[in-house]
Amino acid sequence: MSVTGLCQICETNEAEHSCSNCGTLACADHWDEALGLCAECAATVERGDDRERVQPDDLDDDDVMRF
Ligand SMILES: [Zn+2]
Ligand SMILES: [Zn+2]
Repeated sequence: MSVTGLCQICETNEAEHSCSNCGTLACADHWDEALGLCAECAATVERGDDRERVQPDDLDDDDVMRF
């Protein structure tokens, strides 16, 4: 699939990919080949995983200690 336009992340390089998650055009530098997502989404996915697991920790540690 060819993409026309500039990378929307660095706005410098020619975009080579279109993120299937957010639609952002990304150059090779801002494309995560492994995930098939732009760098921003790749970062969100990687952090998001942690955050979802961490969410229960939003409860104070004290609350957990009661159990
Ligand atoms: Zn870029
Ligand atoms: Zn994206």
